[in-house]
Amino acid sequence: MILKTESLTKRFGGIIAVNRVTLSFEKGSITAIIGPNGAGKTTFFNLISGLIRPDSGRIIYRGKNITVLPPHVRARMGIARSFQNVSLFPHLTVIENVRLAVQGVNGGRRNWSIFSRALDMEEVNMEALRLLKLVNLENKALELAGSLPQADQRKLDIVMAIASRPSLLLLDEPTSGLAVEEIPDIVSLIKSLRSSNKDLTIIMIEHKLDVVEDLAERVVVLHEGRVIADGSPGDVARDPLVVEAYLGGS
Ligand code: ATP
Repeated sequence: MILKTESLTKRFGGIIAVNRVTLSFEKGSITAIIGPNGAGKTTFFNLISGLIRPDSGRIIYRGKNITVLPPHVRARMGIARSFQNVSLFPHLTVIENVRLAVQGVNGGRRNWSIFSRALDMEEVNMEALRLLKLVNLENKALELAGSLPQADQRKLDIVMAIASRPSLLLLDEPTSGLAVEEIPDIVSLIKSLRSSNKDLTIIMIEHKLDVVEDLAERVVVLHEGRVIADGSPGDVARDPLVVEAYLGGS
């Protein structure tokens, strides 16, 4: 098991956005988190990545209690995330964006002495190119990130998240904002990330059920901050509580 949340709870005023959520995630698994709007999905991600702290409960990652650790420490421990709204530097080129992600992760660890700097920059460039090749964007390396089609921006966003070679990748709606014909490309990217690193654990928030079925072996359903179902995509789709949560009133 790579990640465990124990009775994780987060309140915003009178709203309990995440309500005593206890979940375990196996190393190398792909889990989709679904749920109606306001279910607490993004808040759950924010708690795991450290953007916000819970009111109560614990987060155990690789056996360590990370509940109150700041986000950059969690990132160094191998937790990475992409955001629902792509977070690139639109006026920088594609390769400059990736270089920033590579340096962001490695800068703190390296010895930036005057003698090592040239070699480090070379290494950074090599690593950035390696990452761009993974997503077939090497031919667009010198284009401005903001000028890329949505699907390419999404790929760039994901590849920047994996620049840190994470053990746990949190993907917040990786297909949101994409045209139907752009989605298969992102689905196959996620599959290839997983097949090239069997130890990579992926948790993704995703609304599109066909994408969920295609990618995830497990689906967790949140509703009003609580886990209301947890199982295979097929079982969860047939669960009466889930049908009620999606169709009834909310
Ligand atoms: P969506 O699918 O719409 O993104 P979600 O499942 O990600 O929804 P959250 O964004 O986690 O849901 O929100 C859960 C609840 O917490 C909502 O009622 C939301 O309004 C509330 N909430 C989230 N963040 C804050 C905040 N910073 N301040 C106040 N309330 C918040």
